[in-house]
Amino acid sequence: MKVLVVGSGGREHAIIRKLSDSEIVDKIYCAPGNGGTLALAENVEIDSLDIDNLKKFSIDNSIDLTIVGPEDPLAKGIVDEFKEENLVVFGPDSKCAQLEASKDFCKKFLIDNGIPTAKYKTYYNYEKAIEGLNQFNYPLVIKADGLCLGKGVTICENEEEAVQNLKSIFIDKVFGSQGEKVIIEEYLDGIEASLMCFVSHNKIYPMESAKDYKKIYDDDLGPNTGGVGAYSPSPLFTDGFKTIIDNNIIRKIENGFEKYGFDYTGILFIGFMICNSTPYVLEFNVRFGDPETEVVLPRLKSDLAKIIIDAIEGKLIAESLIWDERPSVAVVLTSGGYPKEYVKGYEISGIEKVDNDVYVFHNGTKRIDGKLLTNGGRVLTIGCVDEISKAIEKVYEEIKKINFNKMQYRKDIGKSFFL
Ligand code: ATP
Repeated sequence: MKVLVVGSGGREHAIIRKLSDSEIVDKIYCAPGNGGTLALAENVEIDSLDIDNLKKFSIDNSIDLTIVGPEDPLAKGIVDEFKEENLVVFGPDSKCAQLEASKDFCKKFLIDNGIPTAKYKTYYNYEKAIEGLNQFNYPLVIKADGLCLGKGVTICENEEEAVQNLKSIFIDKVFGSQGEKVIIEEYLDGIEASLMCFVSHNKIYPMESAKDYKKIYDDDLGPNTGGVGAYSPSPLFTDGFKTIIDNNIIRKIENGFEKYGFDYTGILFIGFMICNSTPYVLEFNVRFGDPETEVVLPRLKSDLAKIIIDAIEGKLIAESLIWDERPSVAVVLTSGGYPKEYVKGYEISGIEKVDNDVYVFHNGTKRIDGKLLTNGGRVLTIGCVDEISKAIEKVYEEIKKINFNKMQYRKDIGKSFFL
């Protein structure tokens, strides 16, 4: 089988690594890919938003399955368009992708289906939003409705910050059309965790849970990032807790899919805030998370390509998902300055010295004239599956072998596993 993976990050590299172990996959392409994916796949120079050319490539090269990594092409309708050409594609259509592309849509879905979530209100202009502030206590959360690359959500400690934030979205239009609506939401104080699920025609099959680290500095200080470390599972996901999630959340989402007339097939990422053992849904993503994929997929023992084909054909059964009992942890090496300004193009050395039982996923790299160069804020994700203390120790030990100018990373990834 020939597979095309759309995207260029660590998530796609982790998907490709797993596909490369599959019994049914003969050839993998990645569009556009990065300096790491080309070791296992053939990189194709087509942007992940260039749906016309991705379609043409799939037809011309008789691709049997396309897996879409990022959210933007899903929201833009890549799945709808591929299906019109009778191409086999894994991901939700643009209607289902609204669950991530519009936070207002997502909140309505949650409330409509009785799924626990923070209280909220949606505003369409600056004046009304300012008036609305007095309905909430501080801290409160302000969210631009659309896709904002992880920068659209701000926790405001006081009125001054809230007013400033609303001004930047509505008046300065920092998120353009993605900020035409704004959600003001009650702040939930708890512990975050996530659950990625395979979805086959509205039926949900959860994977193992994960926890990611969003803040750039140790002890959760500094600004939010796309995610700079993760581990799997989250220790909060005991058997009892999984039953609560199944009954209070998963079944309700499945019913909601039916009620909304969805035919959801793909990945559903559920972001939770767990407050005193009660799970609230913070957000949905309609694709694999990054860096969560880099800790969850290495624990999957079953054949990913077979799971995906079964999901598409409506044949998936929960027993097909077999997991390594051991946890995993991963640390993201970032470019100095990230998540603000940073320089690209520094040479990366030492990856070849990393032990085989520690995996290296490329987030933002490119290979030019045989040299591996940094090409993004998040550069590499270094991970290991093992007993948790050993895994953490190994990852940090192996990171010492890798070097690039202004490399930075958190030193406390995995610590909260023990709390
Ligand atoms: P973007 O659209 O910019 O990509 P996002 O999808 O990353 O945003 P969310 O995941 O909804 O946005 O929120 C980002 C982070 O903000 C969460 O991971 C969580 O840490 C925090 N957060 C969001 N909502 C709440 C809330 N109601 N209470 C407390 N923290 C919250």
